[in-house]
Amino acid sequence: MIKFVDTHSHIYQNDYIEDIDDVIRDAKNAGIDKIYLPNVDLESIEPMHQLQSKYPDYFEIMMGLHPTSVEKDYQKQLDIIHTHLHQYDYCAIGEIGIDLYWSKELIAEQQKAFKIQLQWAIESDKPVVIHTRDSLDETLEIVTKFNGLRGIFHSFGGNSDDAKRILEAGDFYLGINGVVTFKNTTLRETLKSVPLERIVLETDAPYLTPVPYRGKRNHPSYIPIIAKQLAEVYNTEIDEIGAITTQNASNAFRKCK
Ligand SMILES: [Zn+2]
Repeated sequence: MIKFVDTHSHIYQNDYIEDIDDVIRDAKNAGIDKIYLPNVDLESIEPMHQLQSKYPDYFEIMMGLHPTSVEKDYQKQLDIIHTHLHQYDYCAIGEIGIDLYWSKELIAEQQKAFKIQLQWAIESDKPVVIHTRDSLDETLEIVTKFNGLRGIFHSFGGNSDDAKRILEAGDFYLGINGVVTFKNTTLRETLKSVPLERIVLETDAPYLTPVPYRGKRNHPSYIPIIAKQLAEVYNTEIDEIGAITTQNASNAFRKCK
């Protein structure tokens, strides 16, 4: 069977509380070998840990404060996140970044929280998982101030110039999800200029569900749908997409078990 990993999934959320064991069984049956869970805020820490301790070999967990969760007193939030970072060997700092789509009100706080968390990544030699929405200039302005960053720009949906700028800013991979299957996207065209060696697969479940399930709850078991679309883009077989993106994910998260 072809093996895949889901590098970005929020299935510790309440959306899955009723049927999480089925969701995991379906994912395993679809060839998903491992799932990476990004943290988002202070409330998500406990459910994320709970899920991971139930299936310790199947999940890898990250620690970070998501940009849309950054509040005025972000320093207090970060103190708690930082305490957790000392208590457990998380596989990445994530997800962190800048999001100006929902609100620009706390842009200064978002920028400061992002910088602090990037510094933690450098100090602990961990990869970062970056969320950027309507904010690539602002995100790269900060990222390029650091030397030696590595990780994933998750949910990439930009143009080929955006891809080029990200890949030049550090040792980064682009996370590709269900958006690549959407009818009106330019992402398939964009990816023709991006080497497959820089792509990792993700669902971002429960969001961004691929066609033909668009609008419904997303599942890690839908990763092969994304891989199949990429096989067309890169004019290759789905096995090849599985093998290369799985290798890419383990490069991006190296040192995680
Ligand atoms: Zn996410």
